This record gives sequence, C-alpha cells and structure tokens, in this order.
Amino acid sequence: MNMSDARGARERLVVIGGDAAGMSAASQARRLKGPDELEIVAFERGHFTSYSACGIPYWVSGDVPERDRLIARTPEEHRARDIDLRLRTEVTEIDVDRQRVRARDVDSGAESWTSYDKLVIATGARPVRPELPGVDAPGVHGVQTLDDGQALLDTLARTRGRCAVVVGAGYIGVEMAEAMIKRGYEVTAVNRGEEPMATLDPDMGRLVREAMEGMGITMVNGTEVTKLLTGDDGRVRAVGTEDAEFPADVVVLGIGVRPETALARAAGLPLGSHGGLLTDRSMRVRGHENIWAGGDCVEVLDLVSGQERHVPLGTHANKHGQIIGANAAGGYATFPGVVGTAVSKVCDLEIARTGLREKDARRVGLQYVTATIESTSRAGYYPNASSMTVKMLAERRTGRLLGVQIVGREGAGKRVDIAAVALTAAMTVDQMTALDLGYAPPFSPVWDPILVAARRASRAVGQPT
Ligand SMILES: Cc1cc2nc3c(=O)[nH]c(=O)nc-3n(C[C@H](O)[C@H](O)[C@H](O)COP(=O)(O)OP(=O)(O)OC[C@H]3O[C@@H](n4cnc5c(N)ncnc54)[C@H](O)[C@@H]3O)c2cc1C
Repeated sequence: MNMSDARGARERLVVIGGDAAGMSAASQARRLKGPDELEIVAFERGHFTSYSACGIPYWVSGDVPERDRLIARTPEEHRARDIDLRLRTEVTEIDVDRQRVRARDVDSGAESWTSYDKLVIATGARPVRPELPGVDAPGVHGVQTLDDGQALLDTLARTRGRCAVVVGAGYIGVEMAEAMIKRGYEVTAVNRGEEPMATLDPDMGRLVREAMEGMGITMVNGTEVTKLLTGDDGRVRAVGTEDAEFPADVVVLGIGVRPETALARAAGLPLGSHGGLLTDRSMRVRGHENIWAGGDCVEVLDLVSGQERHVPLGTHANKHGQIIGANAAGGYATFPGVVGTAVSKVCDLEIARTGLREKDARRVGLQYVTATIESTSRAGYYPNASSMTVKMLAERRTGRLLGVQIVGREGAGKRVDIAAVALTAAMTVDQMTALDLGYAPPFSPVWDPILVAARRASRAVGQPT
C-alpha cells in the first residue's frame, strides 16, 4: 500500500462520490476558493461524473438520443477547474481520528491513503436488489447508473423477444414501463403495493393504475416476485410470483434505494432510522466539525411532519452540494428541509405529489380533512383541455395545508409547485383560495384546479365535526 501523501500548505478538501451532490460541492467550493488556497480531491468509483440518472428512462426510451447528453460536466471539465478527480477509485475506509481516507484503484487493486482537512460524503444510494433465485441472470437490469442504462440498451439490441417485466411501480418503475412501451415491448408491471405509486394515497394510485392499464400495460398489484426463471441459455425467461409466471425477455428492477452509508457506519458516523447520515442545517455531519454529507446518503427534515426522512432525489442532491461547497470553503449556507415534492409521468399521464399522504398525517398524529376534485388543464371550451384529479389534505381545525396529489394529463403535474410553495409558507387552504394565480383560457380554467381544491378543502375544514 502506498502510504505517501504529500501535503502542501493549503487546505485539502476530499470528496467521496462524483455525481450530483459530490461534484456540486466540489465545484461550489472551487468557485469560492482558488487552487492556491484549497486543494480538492474527488474520488469516484464509476466511469462518469455529474450525470443525470433522472434522464436514464428517456435515454432508454429513445427520447434522448445519446448517453452523453445526460452528462452535465465531464471528468476533463472538472479537472480543468483544478479538481483532482480520481475516477475508478473507490474509498474503502474513512479514518475519522487521523483525518484520512483509504482508496482502492478499482482496476489495479492498488490502495493508498489520502489525508483531508475537510471531508464531503456524497456516496448516494444503492438500489434494492432482492435476494431471489435468478436475479443475477443476464437480461435482469437495474437503472441506477449510466453503465446500467447502457447494459439495458445492449440487452434490448440483442433481444428478439417482445415481453418486458418491470418489477416495482414507484416513479422509476412507471417511467421504465413507459420506456419499454416506447421500445415496442409488451409490458407487465409487478408491484408489491396495493396500487402503483405508493408515494400517493391508494385512491390516487388507482387512477394511475387505470390509466396504465388503458395504455396496454398489464398491472399486477399486491404481488411479490418470488423468483426469476431462466431458460436453457441461462438468460431470464419469466418472472415468477407465488401463483403465476409472467414471460420476460427482459426484466427491469425499480424497487427503491437505500442510503449508501456502509463506509459512514463503519467510521462510526451518526445514522438515522432510515439508514441515512444525520446532518445539521449546514449539512455538517452531526458531531463532526470538518465532515459534511449530502444527497441520497443523508436523511432530511420534512418540514410538514417535522420528522427526518430519506428522500433520494436529484433536486435535493444538487442543492445539498452547493450548500456543502459554500460551507466547506468557509462561507455560510443552510438547507431548511423538504416538503416532499415529486413529479413524474408515464406516457401522457402526469403524476405529482407534495406534503403528507393520509397515512403520513395519521402516523404523526395530525387530524385532517380531504378534498378531491376533477378539473381541467385549460378552460373547458379551449382546444385540448385535459382532465385532472387533485386531492388536497388540510389539518382539521387550523386548515393548514398538509399535502396535495395530482394525476392528470398535460399541464397537470407541475401545478404541484403551487402547493409546494404554499406548504413551505405554511399557508392555510383558506389563504390559498385567494392566491393570485395567472389565468387565461389556454392555461387554466378561470378557477385553477388548485384553487378549486383549496375551496373544497376550506369548506371541509369549516364544517362542524
Ligand atoms: C432512473 C432514475 C430516475 C431518476 N429520476 C429523478 C427525477 O426525475 N427527479 C429527481 O429529483 N431525482 C431523480 N432520480 C434520483 C437522482 O438521480 C438522485 O437523487 C441523485 O443522483 C442523487 O445524487 P447523489 O450525488 O446523492 O448520489 P448518486 O447520484 O448516487 O452519486 C453517488 C456517487 O458516489 C459514487 N460512490 C459511492 N460510494 C463510493 C465510494 N465508496 N468511493 C467512490 N465513489 C463512490 C457512486 O459511484 C456514484 O457515482 C432518479 C434516479 C434514477 C436512478
């Protein structure tokens, strides 16, 4: 093992993880401090930096024609900004007492220690891969990294069959179902939950299921996959459940992720009940002056429930990175928390949510009312007005907005942002009814669907119990 680790007079910032959170932190720190003052060393075990995993479904579908469009900043671009980026190098240990990390060259196996003054942990999340017979068979794919996406595309190019099974019907599962439809496959989605999109209440998830069935997707809900069956050639040929088999020329796994915190756990850093690193508002790891963490490997404060959650989304990872970079460079920035906003789509169906579901509200002991309304994306008389369903939760008695879920066609999904702002501002549904939202027939009915839902919720709050 190479123990040499020459240090100059300048401070050294070491970053573990070269994607959204890690490289945003490195870039922001570099913006604020030049190479004379701050040396930045970033370790990434994969082949790529600063790439959009969010774009993988659209690359697989063919909507995005090539992989490189998903790369926001290449390793060469980072190096040109005096970031010492070490690709294909995995950090295998953090020695907190001696302020150093041990790293291994993935290809040669060579190991060395690198000391740090400041450390950023941005190791992301690891996809859940169930321990099932056949799960490692050729033809079974995850979609976490660009390498995963490429491997899936290679399989699709080789596969003569036309049956795809997507395991899991969260947002990645439904986006991959769309991708496989666009590639001309017959798609079956097998899902453990009662309805797809468990981030919605089941009554809203049902709308997603009905729409997906209308698109020709076979939806199998409330069902666990028990095995993946292989053919004589060793390749996957079917997905098995307790009482059925679904033919599969290709299988895509989209069953969620867990924080990638094995390194942090081994180093004795504090983890929360969801397995993510615990930080303070400045994204500093609790109890550790010179270590920050952000992105999918941390837990975040849910501003609505007041509890810590694991919310693995790129939108947060990028913000965390900026905040960490500013603080590690001696500045001051904080991350207040999240309200839980997410938007996705399957073909022309848009799905959005923010805040608490009914079961979240019950879990934290909040009593609530709900209002569900049907409306349209444009004035009813305007061409191509499409329908949408909006469900709103408000706290009983106070009327504080607790959450919104939207399922509809074009123009539905991003309306959730109005609710996200209202949640952040802790507005009541009554206050929301008077929001000065833009109106013209091509954009909304005179009463925007969010206003209609707020009015309905406001009436429900006011009713005697
Ligand atoms: C298919 C898909 C679609 C998505 N769509 C959306 C979306 O529409 N909207 C949204 O907000 N989010 C979306 N996301 C989530 C988003 O991609 C992640 O939240 C984001 O990438 C998290 O960034 P991160 O930097 O925290 O972690 P990651 O992107 O996981 O990066 C962590 C990096 O650390 C490296 N690493 C880990 N351990 C080590 C180690 N020990 N040594 C060296 N390197 C290490 C990994 O190789 C990896 O490159 C999607 C994700 C997927 C997979």
